[in-house]
Amino acid sequence: MKQSDIDLLRTHPIRPQSLLIGGKWRDASDGGRRDVISPIDGALLTTLAEGTQADVDAAVSAARAAFETGRWSRMAPAGRKAVLLKWAGLIEENALELAVLGVRDNGTEIGMALKAEPGSAAATLRFYAEAIDKVPGEIAPTGDDVLALVHRDPIGVVGAIVPWNFPLMIAAWKLGPALAAGNSVVLKPAETASLSLLRMAELGLEAGLPEGVLNVVTGAGPVVGQAMGLHTDIDVLAFTGSGATGRRLMEYSARSNMKRCYLELGGKSPNIVFADAPDLEVAAQVCANGIFRNSGQVCIAGSRLIVAESIREDFLARVVEIAGALKVGDPLDLQNDVGAVHSEAQLQGNLAMVEAARAAGGTVMGGGARIHEKSGGFYMSPAVIDGLGPEADIHRKEVFGPVLAAVSFKDEAEALALANATDFGLAGAVWTSDLSTAHRMTRAIKAGLLHVNTYGGSGVNVPMAGMKQSGNGVDKSLHALDKYVDLKTVWIKL
Ligand code: NAD
Repeated sequence: MKQSDIDLLRTHPIRPQSLLIGGKWRDASDGGRRDVISPIDGALLTTLAEGTQADVDAAVSAARAAFETGRWSRMAPAGRKAVLLKWAGLIEENALELAVLGVRDNGTEIGMALKAEPGSAAATLRFYAEAIDKVPGEIAPTGDDVLALVHRDPIGVVGAIVPWNFPLMIAAWKLGPALAAGNSVVLKPAETASLSLLRMAELGLEAGLPEGVLNVVTGAGPVVGQAMGLHTDIDVLAFTGSGATGRRLMEYSARSNMKRCYLELGGKSPNIVFADAPDLEVAAQVCANGIFRNSGQVCIAGSRLIVAESIREDFLARVVEIAGALKVGDPLDLQNDVGAVHSEAQLQGNLAMVEAARAAGGTVMGGGARIHEKSGGFYMSPAVIDGLGPEADIHRKEVFGPVLAAVSFKDEAEALALANATDFGLAGAVWTSDLSTAHRMTRAIKAGLLHVNTYGGSGVNVPMAGMKQSGNGVDKSLHALDKYVDLKTVWIKL
């Protein structure tokens, strides 16, 4: 990746965006529009169509019609596979354009965006495309006089609602298995990260997705998202975002047609560092990167540091030093390590959490302030907060910003108790040379994604599944296919 290629793309004018409904690009039913502000410099990038309830109705009708015709749902798996593979290829061909567009919209540093966004989205589509003609139904063992078949049928219309961090990657975690299984989809991007998803959808049409199979309705969560949640002709909701919105979606489901409601929510994930960690320098680097990259806007960010009392002082000092050396700035400049916070509102929320921790008696060890204000963009220096107990908000509430909360432990039992002292259960890591400690801890921590002496392991072939209030669904891996199929049993008398 060359800086000159990025610079060529960063000033491309972006035309006003439309909704994708029934294979056609159109304006919102009432002509409404929303400004798209870049977190890089606060400038107006373009406008989005502001979807309405009527637009959601139209998108769901188009999705249902496409499903019922069978032009996708009953296409031979090899046919769906060919289209999805072509789509993945087009995403890779246009990877830098997609990544730069996304960064202009949400502020993620370009190196991370290129890998995690088009790279990961293409890999995900490819994984499910390849899987779909290899996951068979079942013939159950029975007596000689009957045959019991278990079919895996597509369910119908899937409503996918996604957040603003990693829009392509997270949308692909829903689109890949849902479309491969034969469903139609209505996708709602986040208000502050729609541009690259609209472009990815355009590439989907180019790859041959039949009209109505993928629909995209941009707009406000409480309008478009709520209309999807309450819609009686959506069969499955696949959501990634905050716990507060997840709760609402469960309510909408209960109040409407009891649609399946899969939630991938937030976290407060611990990095637990024992004194016998194999390399404390590596541990400090990874702990710092694990919370500060993408300005902490990563669901699995290691936002709690739980460190052995005996090494606390030195380890914390090293993490603070690493944090202070990170270059925060223009996310499209390859020299920078950390980009922008995605919106002014998020930045203000982050700063308020730091101030609340300070007011509660915490020590802010460097950072925690707004920086580069003259650029017009939304930037924050990484903060490490020490001196508060595990009951403090900073140890319990998700900031979703570049803020690390530190606490120490005397023995393994206390480390485990601290790790589990949270409503969340998304991710975590244990740093130790002792195999038994590693096994005991990873088995006892209630979280879906655990690491030993590393952080942020990825790969579409393993599940991403939160425990406790981090969610109830599975993204990635073959397990995710189960969310988007009905199991139907047929008994045949012989
Ligand atoms: P959010 O809940 O505010 O928004 C997510 C989506 O929901 C957006 O598209 C938004 O428009 C929509 N929405 C908002 N209000 C709605 C309503 N009333 N009805 C229906 N839809 C509505 O979350 P966010 O701020 O965009 O994302 C950050 C959160 O996502 C963090 O908590 C983060 O941890 C979480 N996250 C989780 C994962 C995971 O895999 N578990 C991955 C990334 C992000």
